[in-house]
Amino acid sequence: MKLMEDRIRQDGRIREGGVLKVDSFLNHQMDVELFNEIGKEFLRLFGDCAVTKILTIEASGIGIACVSAQFFHVPVIFAKKNKTRNIAGDVYTSKVESFTHGKVYDIIVSKEFLHPEDRVLLIDDFLANGSALQGLIKLVEDAGATLVGAGICIEKAFQPGGDLIRSMGVRVESLARIKSMSVEDGVTFC
Ligand code: 5GP
Repeated sequence: MKLMEDRIRQDGRIREGGVLKVDSFLNHQMDVELFNEIGKEFLRLFGDCAVTKILTIEASGIGIACVSAQFFHVPVIFAKKNKTRNIAGDVYTSKVESFTHGKVYDIIVSKEFLHPEDRVLLIDDFLANGSALQGLIKLVEDAGATLVGAGICIEKAFQPGGDLIRSMGVRVESLARIKSMSVEDGVTFC
């Protein structure tokens, strides 16, 4: 999606350690008009998949998922990062390793909101090593729901997540795929 690539070129900031900061338009300050275009693009890609739920992970996926959901006319569920040690039996749970913080944490979704008849689209801001998506995929599988695919705003294709998730047979659609990036040379897209 040219709009996303142009915006990354214009406003993205590259940090050491393969981190791209997009705080000014995607995951701190949010450009809602851009989110609208993202939602339309996800609808173009997944609009014929009979999606019944959009599933994302807190926090930065929520805004993008909510704006996108208005085009699909379906609810959004966000997986919560679980803070308590005891996990009650009325939730689906899986583990995610944070790319940005390096910690492993549990994510949960209430069994009330994911059902075997659901057709689930995953949405997230970044795909890096694929841990967030793997965690979300497990929640969908545990619910016995159907996974229609994943819509990602920015895939860092130089990291293994995209290949890993696609090799699991999951359809991954990324609006911008970064082939390489460095502080010196900037961003190159696939
Ligand atoms: P993964 O689980 O695929 O390794 O990483 C995905 C998650 O890590 C995303 O939900 C996103 O919040 C965060 N993330 C990964 N890479 C970056 C990055 O370069 N910049 C920012 N801002 N977040 C990232």
